[in-house]
Amino acid sequence: MTAHGRSNVQHDVVIVGGGPAASFTALFLLQQGIRPLIVERESFPRFHIGESLTGEVGGILRDLGLEAELAARRFPIKHGVTVYGAKGTNTFWVPVMRRHHDGDLTSTTTWQVRRDEFDQFLLETAVARGASLVKGDADGVLRDAGAVCGVRVKTAEGPREVRCRILVDASGQKTFLANQGVTGPKLRGTYEKQVGIFSRVTGAVRDPGDAEGNTLIFYQEKHHWAWFIPISDTETSIGVVVPGEHFSRSGKSLEEFLEWKLRHLNPALTARLETITFTEPVRTASNYSYQVKDFTGPGFVCVGDSHRFTDPIFSFGVFFSANEAKLAAAAIRDVLADATERSADPFAGYEATCDFGQQVIQDVIDFFWEYPLAFQMMAHKSHKGEITDCFAGRVYPAHQPSEAVLTMRRMLQRVRTPRAVPEPVGAGSHPALSAR
Ligand SMILES: Cc1cc2nc3c(=O)[nH]c(=O)nc-3n(C[C@H](O)[C@H](O)[C@H](O)COP(=O)(O)OP(=O)(O)OC[C@H]3O[C@@H](n4cnc5c(N)ncnc54)[C@H](O)[C@@H]3O)c2cc1C
Repeated sequence: MTAHGRSNVQHDVVIVGGGPAASFTALFLLQQGIRPLIVERESFPRFHIGESLTGEVGGILRDLGLEAELAARRFPIKHGVTVYGAKGTNTFWVPVMRRHHDGDLTSTTTWQVRRDEFDQFLLETAVARGASLVKGDADGVLRDAGAVCGVRVKTAEGPREVRCRILVDASGQKTFLANQGVTGPKLRGTYEKQVGIFSRVTGAVRDPGDAEGNTLIFYQEKHHWAWFIPISDTETSIGVVVPGEHFSRSGKSLEEFLEWKLRHLNPALTARLETITFTEPVRTASNYSYQVKDFTGPGFVCVGDSHRFTDPIFSFGVFFSANEAKLAAAAIRDVLADATERSADPFAGYEATCDFGQQVIQDVIDFFWEYPLAFQMMAHKSHKGEITDCFAGRVYPAHQPSEAVLTMRRMLQRVRTPRAVPEPVGAGSHPALSAR
């Protein structure tokens, strides 16, 4: 290291961020014998929302050999999701299923996680298996003849320049490379005007027996819903999601709004919350729906929330972080192995696959909001296997678009008002919300 923090060492891969997208990428790279350097600005454990994992994430965690440790931490076991209709009487059930190579669908389970503990565990596992970790804030990129070749990092000891062959952006909603102007701009997503308001409680009534760890979703009306996710033996994560305007017009504080909405959103939810005690401050997430175009290029690749997040309704956030990490690690291995690779974007195939999978889920979510009853019919009867497939992680080109997804697309095109060119994200956030 020089006096100016410039290192002559060149890393194969540097990853910005230490959340699931970063740790999964590191763990998959390590399986290929590539030892990345991770740059994370927060001290872990740190709070993060996003506690319900899909079955596919459960499978990936098992494949990475982490099941025993997750069981030892007593993360609740999730068998599926029950979605309650507006009156609290109708429900539909989406089980956690696994599709085997021979085509069989079988039941499996996954976990609900306290993200502070889960993210720290994943990061520590990556380090224990050979990744390096630097605590610091990435605040600029280094370029060489147009290609990204490193990152500037602010650390407690001063600024540092870290050079690498591939820079992975796993900075989540901070979208580091988009802010640096390396990727395309950050564009507003369909659910950008929604706000999530959430906390944790004890005393919530769960389903009995094996079902006690399941996710419950409560529907009120279009774009108004609540989640109920058991995250330990006693604590449950609860949150409401509504249009930001609905919250602003209420004139209530976050705390008042959450308590009021939990009492009025859905009778089946209210009945479960009669004797609750809040154990965490009330927090919010707003402006969380966006998309970054052109998120790969010479020397860089984005994974997880750093390029797209749609809507939390079906818990696909960590799913995309984990799957894209696996795809990115394979693409990085190929690029590092081929020193003659000179294409303008060696990660173009990865980018197209990610966009494809994200769009399948975007269409499923859009369809759920536009046609909740038709969705329920399809999920329960007419296209049960194909919709289960989406939830079992079959969202990429080898398995999609299925007849179910094509049907949804046909119906959405009839009703969808053509979307204007998305506006760049910037001004216009609700000040009371973005402060938290
Ligand atoms: C209301 C809501 C509910 C959700 N519920 C679920 C759910 O139930 N299940 C689910 O799977 N997903 C859920 N999600 C989505 C989920 O939270 C995210 O998809 C997931 O955390 C993405 O992981 P990531 O690693 O990409 O980003 P993150 O987990 O956000 O990690 C990014 C990391 O990068 C670090 N970082 C950022 N900038 C820098 C920098 N410049 N330098 C160094 N470090 C940096 C941050 O400190 C952070 O630790 C929800 C999202 C919302 C908004």
